[in-house]
Amino acid sequence: MRIIRSIAQMHRASCSARIRNRTIGFVPTMGALHRGHISLIRKAVSENDITVVSIFANPLQFGREEDFKKYPRDLKGDAGLCEKEGVDIIFHPGAKQMYPRGYGTYVSVDNLSSGLCGKCRPGHFKGVATVVAKLFNIVSPDTAYFGQKDAQQAVIIKKLVQDLNMPVQVKVAPIVREADGLALSSRNAYLSESQRRKAVALFHSLDLAKDLIQAGMVEPAKVIYYMRRLLAGRVSKIDYISIVDPVTLRPVKKISGICLIALAAWLGNTRLIDNITVRAG
Ligand code: AMP
Repeated sequence: MRIIRSIAQMHRASCSARIRNRTIGFVPTMGALHRGHISLIRKAVSENDITVVSIFANPLQFGREEDFKKYPRDLKGDAGLCEKEGVDIIFHPGAKQMYPRGYGTYVSVDNLSSGLCGKCRPGHFKGVATVVAKLFNIVSPDTAYFGQKDAQQAVIIKKLVQDLNMPVQVKVAPIVREADGLALSSRNAYLSESQRRKAVALFHSLDLAKDLIQAGMVEPAKVIYYMRRLLAGRVSKIDYISIVDPVTLRPVKKISGICLIALAAWLGNTRLIDNITVRAG
């Protein structure tokens, strides 16, 4: 396994793979790898000749007050995990290389970026779309793997690829959870023991919503009311709970067919997100 830090070198490695007709699978991450990331890596390794994992905490997608500086970083641990899983290349560029002085080109995916997390984190998805577009140009993957954990991100990346005619197939893998249901996240490492115990309420509220919808509840406001009631006292603050169309991400007026229930909530200073897809009736 190679760890490549230079963009030019990564470019050369992917060009050489392409010349040899090798397929490239790509898993973009911010590092601090856990079983959620590993599920994407395993899929990439099993479906491609060459697997590239990028490890880059992208400053552009963090707001001023957000946790960019303290975001967990563990290149050595991540490299060990990648090596064990059969990854061929870790791409680990520096921020100055990705965004040199005078950098001025940004990608924003309109409409899809304005609701849910986009509303609470202005500029976040512009940062995500920009870095993913850059990484796709550098790595030139055949297939890129994303997690349903970041449901809005996955929809935005699919649209980015479609709108900009990028020759990349985007695959989205299911959310990997702890035994009690908490979705794995690099940010779970911030939680105290008591916050960790309470954090499972996010999953419980989604599970409750699923039960209510499958029992015939069709009004989003009612479902959200019961979710908020379950979360009260367990989380410090709710950024949003939304029931949306899984493709347009627009809130649904009445629940029917397949809907995406997404939420973001705080436990102390830690913001967690989770979601579930439910088929009504
Ligand atoms: P991150 O390092 O947080 O940027 O995540 C990198 C990729 O891993 C994204 O596509 C995430 O959606 C995905 N991911 C993160 N957590 C999970 C999880 N619990 N299950 C599945 N995929 C995940």
